[in-house]
Amino acid sequence: MDFELNDEQRMFRRTLREFVDSEIVPVAPEWERTGRYPTEIVERFKHLGLFGMTVPEEYGGLALDRVSFALVFEEIARGWMGVAGVLGSHSLAAWMIAEHGTEEQRKAYLPDLATGARRTGIALTEPGAGTDLQGIQTRAVRDGDHYVVNGTKTWITNARHADPMPVLVKTSVAEPAHRGMSLLLVEAGTPGYTVSRDLPKLGYKGTETCEIALVDVRVPVANLLGGVEGRGMQQALSALELGRINIAARAVGVSQCAYDAALNYSRERHAFGRPIADFQAIQLKLADMATDIQAARLLTYWAATRSAAGAVNAEAAMAKYFASEVALRTTMEAMRIHGGYGYSQEFVVERLYRDAPLMAIGEGTNDVQRMVIARSLISGKARVGW
Ligand SMILES: Cc1cc2nc3c(=O)[nH]c(=O)nc-3n(C[C@H](O)[C@H](O)[C@H](O)COP(=O)(O)OP(=O)(O)OC[C@H]3O[C@@H](n4cnc5c(N)ncnc54)[C@H](O)[C@@H]3O)c2cc1C
Repeated sequence: MDFELNDEQRMFRRTLREFVDSEIVPVAPEWERTGRYPTEIVERFKHLGLFGMTVPEEYGGLALDRVSFALVFEEIARGWMGVAGVLGSHSLAAWMIAEHGTEEQRKAYLPDLATGARRTGIALTEPGAGTDLQGIQTRAVRDGDHYVVNGTKTWITNARHADPMPVLVKTSVAEPAHRGMSLLLVEAGTPGYTVSRDLPKLGYKGTETCEIALVDVRVPVANLLGGVEGRGMQQALSALELGRINIAARAVGVSQCAYDAALNYSRERHAFGRPIADFQAIQLKLADMATDIQAARLLTYWAATRSAAGAVNAEAAMAKYFASEVALRTTMEAMRIHGGYGYSQEFVVERLYRDAPLMAIGEGTNDVQRMVIARSLISGKARVGW
């Protein structure tokens, strides 16, 4: 058993760490406060090849191993969780096109998605259906060599930059409903496809999250992902498994940043003539945070390693569930250690505290993760122990 990163992964992490410390950490507070789009950071992501992290090498991507994939999100989220969102749904959708797309779809989109010349996202959620994706209302009706699509999507990250956007639709009213669900690759600029508004959010700034209106949008049949109707739900769920590793890794990064800030602060802040780090109440918090974070990190790397081997459903759910709960706890504890200053927008823990809850909600709420874990255990698909 090897608990160490290999040499290549260590070097990659060092490159990421230097990039995050020099180019993200210094600008994050001001850009997140003013709502400025992180254009320069996006350009650096392109330069580093990060838009191609899940794209196979033959299409110009980096085809990162899963642990390195997790390292990208951990390190970037340590600097600013919001900008990790620029790469999050993009990398899932690019993976989905590589995994499930036809050869024509791969050739048409993957080379540009790898460089960031094109970007993408994933549009599943609707105003009336999030967890219950089989309850979506967006319909795609075949008309010759096109589908005509009508519906509304909401909470869609990267919507203003995605081209194409994979959109989950119902191509037939089948029973059970997932048999009638498909993903269509909708190109930006297609008449009737409108990003209708940006949603105001607690945190996760730096990446837009929007509502999308689809009114009589004509999408070529050639843009049906994989070329066969009825596979959309399974294609989307397979991408969400990878997404759970991405969220778990972001949660580890946010937690690490909260811990680092709390440790530094506890050494510098004095009360009753001593650093507050001398007080046992503070020490217990630091010990709990450090133990939680290290457990979350190991669970995340383990799930990433297992996902490369193809067995990931319960493992990715465990990592996402545990790491995001750790992020909620550690950001709160970091705020407590900072006292009143933790509540100030001039200290990083205030932002971390606002960013953490999304990770308990996105890619399936944590209650859903617990149900996934339990079902896998009961059915025997997963087990606890060696
Ligand atoms: C900032 C942000 C960005 C997002 N980005 C994207 C994106 O890019 N693309 C996209 O498609 N979606 C995106 N989402 C949507 C996200 O995936 C959903 O919000 C999430 O899946 C939950 O769905 P919901 O909000 O409809 O909640 P609901 O499904 O309405 O759930 C409400 C509550 O009911 C519980 N619940 C629901 N069903 C059950 C059940 N069967 N048993 C027990 N409890 C249940 C849930 O756990 C939750 O506590 C984003 C959301 C946010 C906040």
